[in-house]
Order: sequence, then C-alpha cells, then structure tokens
Amino acid sequence: MLDDKAKSLVTRLIRDYYSSATVAPPDIARREFGFGEFDKKISYRHMSFKDVPALARYLVESAPPFVSYSSAEYKDPSARPIENKGFIGAELVFDLDANDLNLKCTPSHPSFWVCPNCLESVKAETIRLVEDFLIPDFGFSEKDIRANFSGNRGYHIHISSEEVMGLDRHARRSITKYISGIGLSAEAFFPTIGIRGVQLRGPKPSDYGWGGKISNAFVKALNEGTDSVVGLGIERPIAARLVKKRSDVIFGITTGNWDKVSIPKKAEFWENVVKSIAISQSDSIDSNVTNDPSHLIRLPGTIHGDTGLVAKEVGILGLNRFDPTVHAIAFQKGTITVQTGEVPEFSMQDQSFGPYKEGSTVELPTAVGVYLVLKKTAQVK
Ligand SMILES: [Zn+2]
Repeated sequence: MLDDKAKSLVTRLIRDYYSSATVAPPDIARREFGFGEFDKKISYRHMSFKDVPALARYLVESAPPFVSYSSAEYKDPSARPIENKGFIGAELVFDLDANDLNLKCTPSHPSFWVCPNCLESVKAETIRLVEDFLIPDFGFSEKDIRANFSGNRGYHIHISSEEVMGLDRHARRSITKYISGIGLSAEAFFPTIGIRGVQLRGPKPSDYGWGGKISNAFVKALNEGTDSVVGLGIERPIAARLVKKRSDVIFGITTGNWDKVSIPKKAEFWENVVKSIAISQSDSIDSNVTNDPSHLIRLPGTIHGDTGLVAKEVGILGLNRFDPTVHAIAFQKGTITVQTGEVPEFSMQDQSFGPYKEGSTVELPTAVGVYLVLKKTAQVK
C-alpha cells in the first residue's frame, strides 16, 4: 500500500501531467471508460465522454492513477449492464506482458521488477506477432495496426480495420488459438512422422502459415548450431550430426524432404517447435483480452499508476527504437527525495541509478523516484 504522502504527491503530478497532455482515443463518444485507484486498476466503469475536452476536464479534476477504455464501441457506452450498451463493434486487441514469457531473468529479480531483458524480450515478441502473424498470415495492413506501450512491462496491439470490428467471440478465440499454436498436430505437418521405413515428409520454408514457420525455425536452428537444434527437442548426437551436414539437410527441407532429420522423441520435438514459434499472450485463453470485446484496456496517453510512466502510442514502425525508460517518461521536472528498499541497478532517462541498499536516502529525478515509490521499493521522505 502507498502511504498518504506518496498518494498526494503522485496525484498532484498526475493532475499536472493531464493539464497539458492530449488524450484523444478514436471514436471517443462510443467508448466505455473505467478508472482505478492506486491499489485497484479498475474501481469504477460504465462511464462515457461526449468528446475529447470532456475527458480532458475529467482527467484534470480526478487525476486517476489508472485510465482504461473499451476496445468495443457502443451506441450507449454508459448504459448498464453491458447487454444494454448496444454493441457496434470492437477492435481486435492483443496484450503482451513480459511476465508471461518465462524469461531467463525472471528468477533473478522480483516479479514486480522490470529489467532491460524483460523490456527487450516483450518488444521482440510484439514485433514477432506483427511481422510473423498479423501481416503475413492475416493480411492486416500496417496502417490498421496500432502498437502501444502498456505503461509497465508490455505492449498492446490494436487492429481497427472494418473486417475485425464485427468479429464475434468465437472468431476472436480462433485467432488467439492460431497465434498461440493451440490444437496443431505434428501429423498435420509431418504426415509420416513416427512411421518406420517411410520417408519423413514435412513443411517447406515457402509454405503458408504455420508450415512455413516450422520449416524456417528448423533451418534457423541448424544455422545457429547444435544447442539451438537441441532446444527444439532433437537429441544431442543427432543434432550435432545434422548441424555438420546442414547444407544437405537444409536442401532437403526446401523441397519438403525431411528424411535426413530423424526425430525419435516426437512429442518433445513438437512441443518445443510450437513453443518456439507461438506468441505468448497475457491471461489464460479463457479470460484473454483478445477473446473478450467487453474488456477494458489501458488508454494510450494516460499514466500507469504502478510506474508513473505513460502508456504510450508507439506505432509499429517505431517499435524497434522505442525504449520506455526514455520515451515514456511523464514527470519530467524536478527531483524528489526517497528512502529506498533493496533496489538493483537500473537505467532511466539515459542515466543509471543504484544499486541501493535497504534504507538508503537518495535524491532522484522525479520520474525515477516516483517509479520506485509506485513499484513499492521506496517511500517519499
Ligand atoms: Zn527481467
């Protein structure tokens, strides 16, 4: 829990921020809004605003730590319950979070902490979602895809083309299953897998969809070396042999002939291959943001109350160069003095800070101090 001193300081900063920020969601009058408090991301919802100035006035008046809006559009967004809102359509939304990626760094820092590896990995996953799935497999165009930093340790992808707005839950669920690789069978791609004495046929790199991805992932692993091939569930002696004669193996795969690749542990191979290609999204498939059009999601341009960073609209072309520790800073002015807990070394605003021992008193740039306070590893002095 934040103490009152922290709450009143951060509320003042949030109010200052909103008095000059422009927060302008598309089709604002058709959206439902939800607002949170410091300890609860959505504490009230079913609100609506007729235009951008009305929302701006509300943000300055109430300075909420969390602002969410519906990816759905409604005739009457403040009506309740949801069935009475008059559903018009909903964007297709994907929610990617570093905590869902099973990263190597996860055991080395507390789960609330976000390290550079967390940020880079979730950005890479987001770029893979766009470049390997949404554009080539679904045919969405770059202009219909918006990418937003979530404000903490992830990204949201919104697609708002006409053809997605009317999709029902069933269709949205199929899309989630496709990008998550759920329900794919080894036999669909390797019809002769596990049958002795028969040539192993498999997908070609030029194949559409998952077949091409599987084939390309295998060729990539062969080019990277034995460890990568072992990572796909191939036993080490076989992997080493494959890597040694990889030009032959790759030549075969380009024609769909996988005969040089022996796969004794079929289940392990299949699980690893699918896992290495699939996109990991937040939440289980049943409560997934993508599947549920009534879900509220962080509004771009607003403050995230667990970090003090801006949930920033990045654009898919800007993703590569986007660094939230530099580009999502909201509280640009002044310094604050805090007493820290145990804090590892970290970087913000292109400067490095820490490590700090428990009980250190330090004066920090406002955004940096607030970040630690909201992460609950420091207290305002
Ligand atoms: Zn990390």
